[in-house]
Amino acid sequence: MAATILDGKAVAASVREQAARDVEDLGELGLATVLVGDDTASDIYIRSKHKAAQEVGIQPRDIRLPGDTSEQELLRLIAELNEDDSVDGILVQLPLPEQIDEARILRSVAPVKDVDGFHPFNAGQLFLDRPTLAPATPSGILRLLDEYKVPLAGARAVVVGRSRIVGKPMAMTLLRQNATVTICHSRTVDLPRHTLDADLLVVAVGIPDVVTADMVKQGAAVVDVGMNRTEAGLVGDVEADASERAAFMTPVPGGVGPMTIAMLLQNTVKAARYRRGDLAFPGE
Ligand code: NAP
Repeated sequence: MAATILDGKAVAASVREQAARDVEDLGELGLATVLVGDDTASDIYIRSKHKAAQEVGIQPRDIRLPGDTSEQELLRLIAELNEDDSVDGILVQLPLPEQIDEARILRSVAPVKDVDGFHPFNAGQLFLDRPTLAPATPSGILRLLDEYKVPLAGARAVVVGRSRIVGKPMAMTLLRQNATVTICHSRTVDLPRHTLDADLLVVAVGIPDVVTADMVKQGAAVVDVGMNRTEAGLVGDVEADASERAAFMTPVPGGVGPMTIAMLLQNTVKAARYRRGDLAFPGE
C-alpha cells in the first residue's frame, strides 16, 4: 500500500495563516536577512523567505554584501541590526565565504533575534530541554508529524545526518518527544541495519537515494529533508519507491521545505513576542 503523503505545503499554509493573524495583533514586524556573496542557491532561499515574510505582513529587509566582505564589517552590521528596534529577527544566510568565521558570526547575533536558532544560547536551550528559538527545519518536521498524528513517544527514531542545522537539533527534538533516537552519519557502519529498525526515519544528508527503498522498514514514517538539484530536477535523499513500504512519507518538493519557511515566520513572531515582553526570554 502506498504511503500517506505528509503534505508540507498544506500544513505550512495553516502555520502561515496563524503567523499572519499574529502579525496583525503585534503590529509592525521586521526580518533582516544578510547574504554575503552571490551563491545562487542562497539567493533562491532568501527570495522565498522574503516572499513568505511579506505575505504574512512581516517587513523583510534584504541586506546583500559583496563576497569579499570582511568579518569585521559583517560583525559591525550585525551589531547595528541587534540595536535596531525595527528588526525583530536576524538571519545570516549560510554558507559564508571562507574569510569569515561562521561560528563567530552566529555568536554575534542577539539571541533574542536569532530566528534561525543557531546561536549557542538557543542551541543550548534546546539541548537543555527548554527550547527558545529552535531551528526551523526540525520544528517544521515536528509540526508536520504532529499534524498527521505520527506516534513519537516510544518510537524508534533514526536520524541520518548530524549537522548543526538539521540532524542534531532534529535528534534533540525527537528525544524531547520521548522517541528512542539513533543518529547516523558518514562513519556509521552498516547504515541499513539502523534504518531498517526505524519507525521514524529522518534523512538529512544531501545525497540522492542515499536511503533506498529496501532500507526502509515496512510501515515506517519517512521524512526526507534532502534537497538535491539534479538534471531530473529537485530530488530528496530517499528513493521515491520507499513510499511503497512506508506508512507516511514527505514528498520532495512540497514536504519539509515549505515547513522550514513557515517555521521561520513563526520564529519571527516568537522573537517579536520576546522583545515586546509578551513572552519571557530566559536570562533577561
Ligand atoms: P550537511 O551539513 O552537509 O550534513 C550532512 C550530514 O550527512 C553529515 O552529518 C554527514 O556525516 C552525513 N552523511 C554524509 N554522507 C553520508 C552517508 N553516506 N551516510 C550517512 N550519512 C552521511 O547537510 P545539512 O545542512 O544537514 O543538509 C542535508 C540536506 O538537507 C541537504 O540536501 C540540504 O540541502 C537539505 N536541507 C533541506 C532543508 C529543507 O528545508 N528542506 C533545510 C536544510 C537542509 P558527517 O557528519 O560524518 O560528515
